[in-house]
Amino acid sequence: MHDQHMNASLDSRLGLAEEDRPEAVPADDSLDPEDWRELRQLGHRMVDDIFAQLQGIRQRTVWQPPSPEARASYHVSMPTEGVPAATVYEEYRRFIQPYPLGNTHPRYWGWVTGAGTAGGILADMLASSMNGHVAFGDQAAVHIEAQVIGWLRDLLGLPEHASGLLVTGGSVATLIGLTAARDAKLASVLTEGMAQSRATAYASLEVHNCVDKAVGVLGVGRKNLRRVPVDRDFRIDCAALRAAIAADRAAGMTPFCLVASAGTVNTGAIDDLPEMRRIADGEGLWLHVDAALGVGLAASPSLRTLIQGIESADSIAFDLHKWFHMQYDVGCVLVRDADSLRRSFSPSAAYLAPMPRGITSGGEAFGELGIDLSRGFRALRVWFGFKEHGLNRYGRLVEQNVDQAGYLALLISRTPYLELLAPVPTNIVCFRYRGRGELEESRRDHVNREIVMALHESGLAVPSYTTIDGRFAIRVAITNHRSRREDFDLLISEVSRLGEERSNPHHD
Ligand SMILES: *Cc1c(COP(=O)(O)O)cnc(C)c1O
Repeated sequence: MHDQHMNASLDSRLGLAEEDRPEAVPADDSLDPEDWRELRQLGHRMVDDIFAQLQGIRQRTVWQPPSPEARASYHVSMPTEGVPAATVYEEYRRFIQPYPLGNTHPRYWGWVTGAGTAGGILADMLASSMNGHVAFGDQAAVHIEAQVIGWLRDLLGLPEHASGLLVTGGSVATLIGLTAARDAKLASVLTEGMAQSRATAYASLEVHNCVDKAVGVLGVGRKNLRRVPVDRDFRIDCAALRAAIAADRAAGMTPFCLVASAGTVNTGAIDDLPEMRRIADGEGLWLHVDAALGVGLAASPSLRTLIQGIESADSIAFDLHKWFHMQYDVGCVLVRDADSLRRSFSPSAAYLAPMPRGITSGGEAFGELGIDLSRGFRALRVWFGFKEHGLNRYGRLVEQNVDQAGYLALLISRTPYLELLAPVPTNIVCFRYRGRGELEESRRDHVNREIVMALHESGLAVPSYTTIDGRFAIRVAITNHRSRREDFDLLISEVSRLGEERSNPHHD
């Protein structure tokens, strides 16, 4: 009815008489549902299921391997014909939803992983409903991203003229920061390529491997990322850093960038940022800070002094999907000099040039500040999160996690046969089951690997692991707003039990 009416009025506007109308053509198809009411009901059911599941998360195992049926479903070939959305949802409930990594669970402490929030789920639904494309334009999504970037810039103490953008995560943020560094310090490379540059960058042995990726992608070359030794607290040795730069200069290399860690992935160590700034200034180098983890400390009035000096960086890469608990994926790169991103990422293109009026007449062109042109509306979940909880709440939760790490370290020191393997400056605890005197050093790595795998398989807790001074360590990184003290009691009693069991020579 409605369509006929529309056609009739369109015909009259076009001056078409009834007899001029083309033969009946099939109605144009679209992907919208035939029955909106049915879809709304499905949506309501999904929302109910989602929050019931999240509310009961504590009663579930952290992780379980996908069932054989689920695995088989992952290999079904592409459907050529569709089925109702409700049927697709049933399949999701059986084969997908029960088999997550587990990071929404209160006892997930692996790698550095955020748990997400209930409100964030709704924010994502809203962002998805706008299907925001946030490359440019005088549109709310662009203005919201600019607002969020301004908040984060102020949080980290960068000047008003600094700029940046949201990206998928710390790795891409690092790549963008180091690209800006390269093009600021090695003037000809952007047009001429890296061939003659002999460029070198510097970071500690503990720096995250996203920096290795970045120097590889940029053509600096992995061997030209100098890995500088660390002190006993796993912070970069600044005397060794100066010496490395001097040696490279003497050998005819061109140092261009220092990468400082504000929270290393292994132990949470924070490099001496003010001293690295002084070295960078003395040598005319760019200072990039990897604060993927440490940015959370900025939210706490009592902990933010730990990352003092971050405000002097030329670029900062960090994540919001880790210690700020925002849904994956969202990270951020900020640069002190707004022009530096534009220099690296806005080659001219007639089809993207702004017009004096209309859609393209206003708003930050985020597509010209980074690698992505088409970009989603990640900013909404950041905006929603800060609006819903406020900075202070995030700060208190960061403090809670740091306190929990201290509590866990204390438990370890008080529990027979366990030992800490590294200092605990913030929220990461590396330890192992040391065992009784007769447990040989060479068997300890094996026993601790067994402990970690058994914890994962039981679904009781998910810590990760690393190597500290050549020893296998159980690693607990607490960026989880759902964890409680009793969760750490449970972890320690289970590690002790498993350690006793697995170090028994008759066990395997
Ligand atoms: C997680 C992390 C990264 C990489 O960030 P992604 O968001 O995973 O790309 C870099 N550095 C540190 C210290 C990290 O913890």
